[in-house]
Amino acid sequence: MGLSSFFKRVKKDAKNEEIVECHIDINTDDCDGCEKCGIACPNNVFMMVDNVSKVRDSQVCKNCKICMAICPNDCITVN
Ligand code: SF4
Ligand code: SF4
Repeated sequence: MGLSSFFKRVKKDAKNEEIVECHIDINTDDCDGCEKCGIACPNNVFMMVDNVSKVRDSQVCKNCKICMAICPNDCITVN
């Protein structure tokens, strides 16, 4: 348990367009497995592992911060 960190680096895609950099932290000590982040995320970033939210793929995060707003335990930070 503890703090899980996931990074998305700025880079160019195949069309030479810049990809947004996202850094997602999940405080797994406070996560109660409610799955609200996974349901709310429009880009399917999260998955549940052993009743704790994990980042499935940080590359698809669009930095909308919906997950931060919806988590009842303030577990998620995206910047
Ligand atoms: S919304 Fe928060 S408490 Fe619920 S599963 Fe996601 S990180 Fe855990
Ligand atoms: S910031 Fe938006 S796209 Fe990124 S993980 Fe949170 S809800 Fe999903």
